[in-house]
Amino acid sequence: MNLLFHTPGHARHDPTALSPGHPERPARLNALAPVLDQAATNGWTRREHAPATDDALARLHPAAHLAWLEELANGGGGRAEADTALTAGSMDAARSAAGAGLAAVDAVVAESDVRAFCAVRPPGHHARPFVDRGAMGFCLLANAALAAAHARAAHGLNRVLVVDWDVHHGNGTQDAFYEDENVHFLSLHRFPFYPGSGAKDETGAGAGLGATRNLPTAFGTPPDTIVGRFRTALADVADACRPELVILSAGFDARRGDPVGDLGLEPEHFAALTAAVVEVADAHADGRIVSLLEGGYDPAQLAEGVTIHLAALAAGGASSE
Ligand SMILES: [Zn+2]
Repeated sequence: MNLLFHTPGHARHDPTALSPGHPERPARLNALAPVLDQAATNGWTRREHAPATDDALARLHPAAHLAWLEELANGGGGRAEADTALTAGSMDAARSAAGAGLAAVDAVVAESDVRAFCAVRPPGHHARPFVDRGAMGFCLLANAALAAAHARAAHGLNRVLVVDWDVHHGNGTQDAFYEDENVHFLSLHRFPFYPGSGAKDETGAGAGLGATRNLPTAFGTPPDTIVGRFRTALADVADACRPELVILSAGFDARRGDPVGDLGLEPEHFAALTAAVVEVADAHADGRIVSLLEGGYDPAQLAEGVTIHLAALAAGGASSE
């Protein structure tokens, strides 16, 4: 079974109210509505979920971080930093986005042959854990890292792999597990580029040394080369991690022409990246994948990318047998 989660009320988080032209806008998820409707007639089942609780958020976010963001939102909105703005509904949306990941983890762990896609905003992989004012890069709460932490704490999974192919380095996710040998992290991203981290020599520390793998990728690298490097690295990382669950930060801003990102990828490359993740999830993790939307800033291209992604998630592996 394949499950869809989304953020109801996401449009009340609207950075364009403070920054006209802000790319992380409600139109992104609005463009996905017909995609999800179509998927729901084609083997995907919608699931509702609860917002993330304070206890779940406290695994990675200090109380001061949450209080700061709630104060901004409750005051009608404001800027957390230059790129990151909140409106009155932003924390409801952010808690729902994080909660989708937690509920998706609950579902894929409890049920067999389940993949989940969370069509959520705001995105999460730049939100810095363990920092009192850690919002950054359009991200308020660390959705993917929170999902991984939940799999460990609530379900007792020993080994989780987080894969991130958003065009930007997932600095928040990396920071969450940099010294953790139980949560491995693989990031493919444009480099040098925002947020500046994600060099090849960032490989973890302490007990987590070797559990972080970065694939910094220069603009202009041929897409087939990018996909090939990703496949090879993912297979290596999965062999080392032997994950019981794969969490995916699925950004679509590496698409050629994306107004924020652009690493030259076309829709077929997202199909190939997805297939590679499905392959390792089937080999190691009983097919368990929780995919969370991160970036992707041309709404029409985002809809196209998610369509391809859902088809590739549903294809192959145990689910289609
Ligand atoms: Zn991005």
